[in-house]
Amino acid sequence: MDSYDFILIGAGHNSLVCAAYLLKAGYKVLLLEKNSIPGGAATTEPLLPDVVSGFKFNPCAIDHLFIHLGPVVRELELEKYGLEYLFCDPVVFCPHPDGKYFLGHRSVEKTCAEIARYSPRDAEKYAEFNDFWQRVIGMLTPMFNAPPKSVVDMAGNYDIAKLKDMFSLMGSADKTLDFIRSMFTSPMDIIDEYFDSEFLKAPLARLAAELSTPPSQKNMAVGSIMMCLRHNPGMARPKGGTGALTEALVCCVKDLGGEIRTDQQVKSVLVDNGRAEGVQLTSGQEYRAKVGVVSSLDAQRLFLHLVDPSDVDAADPKLRDRVARRITNHNEAILKIDCALSEAPRFVNHNHRDEYLIGSVLIADSVAQVELAHTDPNIGRIPLEDPSMYAAVPSMRDPSLAPEGQHTLWIEYFVPYQIAGAEGTGLKGTGWTEELKNQVADRVLDKLAEYAPNVKSSVLARRIESPPELEERIGVLKGNYYHLDMTFDQMMFFRPLPELANYKTPIENLYLTGAGTHPGGSISGLPGRNAARVILQSQRPITQAISDAGDTIKSAAQSLFRVTE
Ligand SMILES: Cc1cc2nc3c(=O)[nH]c(=O)nc-3n(C[C@H](O)[C@H](O)[C@H](O)COP(=O)(O)OP(=O)(O)OC[C@H]3O[C@@H](n4cnc5c(N)ncnc54)[C@H](O)[C@@H]3O)c2cc1C
Repeated sequence: MDSYDFILIGAGHNSLVCAAYLLKAGYKVLLLEKNSIPGGAATTEPLLPDVVSGFKFNPCAIDHLFIHLGPVVRELELEKYGLEYLFCDPVVFCPHPDGKYFLGHRSVEKTCAEIARYSPRDAEKYAEFNDFWQRVIGMLTPMFNAPPKSVVDMAGNYDIAKLKDMFSLMGSADKTLDFIRSMFTSPMDIIDEYFDSEFLKAPLARLAAELSTPPSQKNMAVGSIMMCLRHNPGMARPKGGTGALTEALVCCVKDLGGEIRTDQQVKSVLVDNGRAEGVQLTSGQEYRAKVGVVSSLDAQRLFLHLVDPSDVDAADPKLRDRVARRITNHNEAILKIDCALSEAPRFVNHNHRDEYLIGSVLIADSVAQVELAHTDPNIGRIPLEDPSMYAAVPSMRDPSLAPEGQHTLWIEYFVPYQIAGAEGTGLKGTGWTEELKNQVADRVLDKLAEYAPNVKSSVLARRIESPPELEERIGVLKGNYYHLDMTFDQMMFFRPLPELANYKTPIENLYLTGAGTHPGGSISGLPGRNAARVILQSQRPITQAISDAGDTIKSAAQSLFRVTE
């Protein structure tokens, strides 16, 4: 039987990041991945090789924002392993039915100039809106980059600029209360407070709702950062597709001596006397971990499916019930459409320019339409009457993804996981069938064609993935694209539950990482990095504390140096 220091379950990007830090600390590490390629929701694949050749698609993530808020790329030297980020500019295009359009550039000034063509007042307010949320981003970044319960780690991440951001938001008692009040509001409240024009409000609502809640969701005003992150630090895509990030991480892990085994589905975690000792695969094979087992599968999958109930109960008799019932996993999921196109979509009624297709392309006609795009799926309805969507033409920014002159189209469309009234039918009893997913995709493409009429005739081939198919492929329960809901009650030290929030579990040497842990879903690598920090601290309390203190002093000195420069 093979033996390692650490075994990581799953080889998504967070697991690979976590493994790299453990390897750097000198441990022997094995990652076990159920699929034939690593990456999970961060891959680039041919998808339709029998139908078209020369096209590369991103079946899941495309736009990378949060990874630029942390040091993972630099610390793991991923550029040395082939990673090259291509920043997008413009960052967002959203055509409006009345002929107006929102074109967001990386530059705030250029974005304001675009808005001013239709509304000088909203342009002025946009600069204010961005300024506020940039300061929030500055304040939150140190928290994203530290384990949520490690106050010392968090404090060490605040340099002078970030402290300034924090104090500018919370200068006096009333200012602090007003800031907290803002955070209790919804994206819709905030957007209405600042702006008048629907052509601007609808795309901002759509982006805010990318945190997976409707624009009216109270306590989720923070979703407003989804547009502001596109200005700073910016939105980028790895050259060659999202899978190029995974490839660089794989090279890094292998270079550091790590092992990745694919087509190895973990069936259970082996626990002996309250201690995680290894894993067993569906094939029956066992692997032993001398120091720890790290799950990049969320707490629900880990404690309800992979650990024997008697072992969970022995560690914490309430845990199974809390994991099953207190963690929320809503019904909203993604129908993913990937197309090979003979030519790029042309927004003929909006003075088409190819630069519209560089960043995210949103179909968001009104805030009300975006609201329904989220609320309908939650009650089991497909919002087919007037589809809103998030699309991209990745080959416009990165021509290596398609044959010359041809393009790829990426569409994310929110649908229910369980269709109301169709219980017990279709795939996994969700109501989803081949016929239905094709009908829905037809409707979505019809809607896109209202703006870009050439899109339908240019589809050479397409691949549609329904929520239960996504669940089957990468294992995410109910097709939840962030593993668990990203609502306020499940973020930071609440993610996934307070007692599991610092990557440790009540079972000794069993750790959690991945999108189901702080700071949550998306391409960031931060759950992986933070988890590694906690694991190393618990294995080597003194040496790790000295090294962390060194890092903290170094970063404080660097920030002071920058300020005095
Ligand atoms: C359709 C879609 C679009 C998205 N778009 C974006 C985007 O544009 N930008 C963005 O930032 N984020 C996006 N996201 C979210 C982002 O991709 C994920 O939050 C992130 O990739 C999660 O990474 P992870 O490593 O935590 O988990 P995962 O990527 O889920 O990795 C977990 C791995 O574990 C494997 N696994 C599961 N069960 C087992 C088992 N029993 N044994 C062994 N291995 C197992 C899986 O196959 C998988 O490889 C999107 C997600 C989806 C689904």
